[in-house]
Amino acid sequence: MSTTTTTDNQTPTNLSADTTNDEARPPDFSTAAKRRREMPTAPVPEIAKGPEVSSAGYAMEEIADCIFWLGDGQYQSMFVVSDEGVIAVDAPPTLGNNILRAMRRVTKKPVTHVVYSHQHSDHVGAMSIFPDNVPHYAQRFTANRLSSLADPLRPVPTEVFDDTLTIDVGDHSLRLDYGGANHTEGNIFIYAPHQRVLMLVDVIFPGWVPFSNLALSANVPGFINAHEQALTYDFDKLVSGHVTRPGTPEDVHVQLEYVTDLRVTAEAALSSVDLGKTMAPVDTGNAWAVFRAYLDAVAAQTADELVPRWKDRLGGADVFTLPNAWAMAESLRLDLNSMGPFGITP
Ligand SMILES: [Zn+2]
Repeated sequence: MSTTTTTDNQTPTNLSADTTNDEARPPDFSTAAKRRREMPTAPVPEIAKGPEVSSAGYAMEEIADCIFWLGDGQYQSMFVVSDEGVIAVDAPPTLGNNILRAMRRVTKKPVTHVVYSHQHSDHVGAMSIFPDNVPHYAQRFTANRLSSLADPLRPVPTEVFDDTLTIDVGDHSLRLDYGGANHTEGNIFIYAPHQRVLMLVDVIFPGWVPFSNLALSANVPGFINAHEQALTYDFDKLVSGHVTRPGTPEDVHVQLEYVTDLRVTAEAALSSVDLGKTMAPVDTGNAWAVFRAYLDAVAAQTADELVPRWKDRLGGADVFTLPNAWAMAESLRLDLNSMGPFGITP
């Protein structure tokens, strides 16, 4: 066949020319991902750093009287030691059985109550380490989701509430409040009023920008509103479920400033992006390519403006501001009707 003839006739010069053509083509996805991870990232600012994680794989701090914070450098959980037993909140698999080891260092009392912040496995995928015959608390949306998933590692909650519920155990109490959908439907505020500790998972990221795509929030306006809701609580310490250290009210204020900046900048970009220039190289017969071009351009313009303002203030601003801008722009379009060039046809 002619293919064989062509190959046989290729000279080293031709082969070299072919290689050049290969390099001129866009890289495959794996090569593009490799290039991106090899690019240097901005130095992590001091505010993003936390206590050292020991060789045991976790750090523990008594952040208020008998309330213990656990962290492994990425994930966090909390437990409360009362004079009658231990209330455990969440069990990230990466902390796993280290949660029980940490408890044994500070108390001989058993776990008597278990609380789900929300249903995501990365925060509660090790709940099965706790006794299965003690009450398990969750908001109704979380409980329904866990019921339908039927995961033995996340036992179905036995105590289900809609709006608010207080757990009283001996000399301690924890209030569980639901303020509407944010990161997920059913993601709750967990509050110890006497010790002034608030736990809110996957919303605030102390010292860091939110995780990719605004923490994959099910409801972005609810996610933004949850910042204001958090600030209505009287608290000194925040357990946020993620990253390196316990948080403070100041961390909530700073992140609210970031998401507000993101929102205002993305809102402007939705209308100001140069559509002619953006669409010039695009196959306009490809509906998805048209949308991708527009949304990518909006997110890129937003991130180009934000990253210089935030890279020294919050960790990972250069890593996740682009996908955060993409998620914010989509929410502005779909939740808040900022349709830019895709508004009502006159
Ligand atoms: Zn989550």
